[in-house]
Amino acid sequence: MQEFLSMPQYSRQTIMQKLGEEKPPVHWDRYVWNRLSINKCKFINWLVMRGRLHTADKSRMYDPNATSVCFLCGLYDETQEHLLFKCCYSQQVLTDIKRWMGMEYSGDEIQGVIRSISRSRRSKFQKNACNAALAGAVYSIWMARNDSKWNLKVPRIQCLVKMLKDNVRRRIFLVMPKKVSRSDRSWFNTL
Ligand SMILES: [Zn+2]
Repeated sequence: MQEFLSMPQYSRQTIMQKLGEEKPPVHWDRYVWNRLSINKCKFINWLVMRGRLHTADKSRMYDPNATSVCFLCGLYDETQEHLLFKCCYSQQVLTDIKRWMGMEYSGDEIQGVIRSISRSRRSKFQKNACNAALAGAVYSIWMARNDSKWNLKVPRIQCLVKMLKDNVRRRIFLVMPKKVSRSDRSWFNTL
């Protein structure tokens, strides 16, 4: 007991560190669990932000005979970063979506896109709408990749982008907060 009482005092943070339970601050939380995002996109984006999407490079860790080539372009090794942000297919999808939402960020790094949305002078509603479109793009690219892997067909980018825009618009319309300003509402109507 005496020993217990004489134990040095640790802060909660130190204890968590010692237990190996300290977690880094989650700056993408709002992006992933955004109310305007289509529900089925959220889990895939959560995996992406944690670097856990099961791309070909991860399959090869368990099965050395598994293919390593990107299912969308067939040119490069499929890593999460390549598939979603470096592949010519995904870059075209992201460019179209960024243009649609009027995003100015020209890079293709997801953290950069999220940061630029967060730092922009847009209203909260518009920021959430941009995040919903980005999350939808990530999800659509992953689904196109799976279509290619399992059904041997890659959706045309134009069709994918059109469907993505329709789905994002429909979702936002359905869950649009009541207190959206008139200017935000007219911005949304132009999408
Ligand atoms: Zn590729």
